[in-house]
Amino acid sequence: MFIGKIISKKETSRLVKELSDAFPLEEKSHLKRVKWTDEKDIFEIIIRPLLPNEPVEGVLSFSLKYVLGESHVNTNGLSDTVIVRDIPKTPAWTYSQFKEAVKFWPVQFRENKYIERALKDQLFSSEERSNIQMYMEMCLRVGKNGDENVGCVIVDPVNSNVVAVSHDCRHQHPLQHAVMVAIELVAKGQGGVESWNINSEHVLSLTYDKADEEKKIAELTLLKSKDVKSSLPYLCTKYDLYVSREPCIMCAMALVHSRIHRVFYATETSCGALGSHWKLHLQNGLNHHYEVFKVILPQNTLNAT
Ligand SMILES: [Zn+2]
Repeated sequence: MFIGKIISKKETSRLVKELSDAFPLEEKSHLKRVKWTDEKDIFEIIIRPLLPNEPVEGVLSFSLKYVLGESHVNTNGLSDTVIVRDIPKTPAWTYSQFKEAVKFWPVQFRENKYIERALKDQLFSSEERSNIQMYMEMCLRVGKNGDENVGCVIVDPVNSNVVAVSHDCRHQHPLQHAVMVAIELVAKGQGGVESWNINSEHVLSLTYDKADEEKKIAELTLLKSKDVKSSLPYLCTKYDLYVSREPCIMCAMALVHSRIHRVFYATETSCGALGSHWKLHLQNGLNHHYEVFKVILPQNTLNAT
């Protein structure tokens, strides 16, 4: 950011307003505009963000005129020189991040309790932990029946129903990675048109009872005047997926499209899309995001399966 100096205290609120109108911080709304200094009645103020590729390297200070450019900000109360300063790029989610951020510049802080719990390793109860390990062991076992030793399990966490179990079938078709097969099995179980003939006795697809489903729809239609089409989730909405190996970019994107809720994987891969090589789940432009967890299995589990 270009940082200026306010040398006349009484101009502060006007300068904050005019600069905020001329150069809004938009996605940087976590930053406070003004910073106290050790000098009495002198403040620092964010003039504007740097433009992409703006040549500032090696330059110690800039003229206020250059930085303000065509804007009509009244410069009364501002010193003539402006410097470039590093500021916290993203909001602080935890107290320790906040403490680090304010060493650079004052920021707003609203603690994200979920992230705090995750960093303190308090996200899962001991029962949830043993379930995660159990599903991961299922992945390791079923993976042995296919190519590449990759197994996959999709679970409805509300009732712990295993919705699909799959292994890698890429010798049958190059796209039949374990994750792709599992999504296909969920779609098939929900009455979708079968696009692949998955030829293995080791896969499982939970089939929903059509009569039961129609009864549920009838009940829901009575309750609501709106046209209720189905009580089934869209594909993998609210489901968890366990897979023994970190998904590739194709599988990770298929999980976005299938609306999976959470992904747990055990082994990293050099071309993995969820942490090792790429972090697809963190891409801003996607219309769905899921949480990703890397599961560290005890060594004896890995040896036994
Ligand atoms: Zn894949």
